[in-house]
Amino acid sequence: MRGDIITAGVDIGSTTSKSLVMMDGNILAYVIGPSSANPARTAGEVYQESCKRAGITEKDVACVVGTGYGRARVTFAHENVSEISCHAAGAYSVMHEVRTIIDIGGQDCKAISLDNNGHLKNFAMNDKCAAGTGRFLDVMSRVLEVDISELGALDSESQRPASISNVCSVFAESEVINLINEGASVPDIIRGLHNSLTNRVSVLVNRVGLNADLVVTGGVAKNKGVIRALSEKLGTRITSLESRIDPQIIGALGAAVVAKRKFGKECAAEAI
Ligand code: ADP
Repeated sequence: MRGDIITAGVDIGSTTSKSLVMMDGNILAYVIGPSSANPARTAGEVYQESCKRAGITEKDVACVVGTGYGRARVTFAHENVSEISCHAAGAYSVMHEVRTIIDIGGQDCKAISLDNNGHLKNFAMNDKCAAGTGRFLDVMSRVLEVDISELGALDSESQRPASISNVCSVFAESEVINLINEGASVPDIIRGLHNSLTNRVSVLVNRVGLNADLVVTGGVAKNKGVIRALSEKLGTRITSLESRIDPQIIGALGAAVVAKRKFGKECAAEAI
């Protein structure tokens, strides 16, 4: 392995914890696991597992960067970097054309704009309210007794989308229960929920300004119904990252990319 630079990114989110190992710009392995009440332990576990899957030991890793909501708990990281910078670095490394990023995670949502060199220009964030985040859909999918991974396919079966007027997740849940009792179909309710989530997210996008190319990152980017609704609401094409990479690991990828940039500077001293 000597001579090849191996870096890692560990992204401790509110809902999932991710670790990714990269060598000279190529992803060797990654792990996505549930977050826990002990983020320091979970960070160590996902990191060790990603090294194992990559066929390396932790000593082979030159530099580790921690990110995400729980980044301060990645105690073995050489540095912690905000998830905004990491999503920017991760998305840009996959696609240099990207200028706007929407990251929809478990309990927050961010709109990020980049300049032509991939540098952060502006961002807007909602981490105060479940509406417009993965949590909103997690709660609703439980009420509808549908797995979260099925929402996208069910959205495409909708004939008469329901209108969800409540912004607050708690009231929207009651509204969904009423719709079920009134006989609305599950696909119609789901499409209504995706449209409602999108209304919240688009406010953030309008704040930073929409520039093509637009990509969506975070676990919710795997939901094709959300991508459809966002594309309709914003009136623009959304480039899918999913054919190239799991959008849920973009933050961890960005952390590993930042770690690579830092190698040769402060991380190098500790790696030798
Ligand atoms: P965080 O980093 O904030 O913990 P993630 O980016 O990992 O959040 O996203 C978690 C959210 O992604 C979950 O709350 C869930 O709503 C959504 N999600 C995860 N997997 C899927 C899937 N296969 N299809 C649709 N949504 C998903």
